[in-house]
Amino acid sequence: MKQYEYIQHLLQHIYRSYEHKKEECILNYKRHSSLGFFPINKYFKESEGHHISENFVVYIPRELHRSIPHNIWTGKNMDKINKLAIEYLNKLNYF
Ligand SMILES: [Zn+2]
Repeated sequence: MKQYEYIQHLLQHIYRSYEHKKEECILNYKRHSSLGFFPINKYFKESEGHHISENFVVYIPRELHRSIPHNIWTGKNMDKINKLAIEYLNKLNYF
């Protein structure tokens, strides 16, 4: 449970930092040449992995994932899709 609390804290931090330091986050994305792959939840049918940050992936329903075109490299719409992804996990009481 502690680990999930930590991840939730991390995600909230990521989300807040998007709101307040968007430019800085975009720079961070550009600086990283490769992405890690640490899934936060398990793959399920009809889901797609979404990189919520450089290293963390969440599986969210494909429809939800594709509802907002986004790009981790440019930062385009990442705040919007991450908000949806976090809301989705919260709705499942995942954390
Ligand atoms: Zn994605």
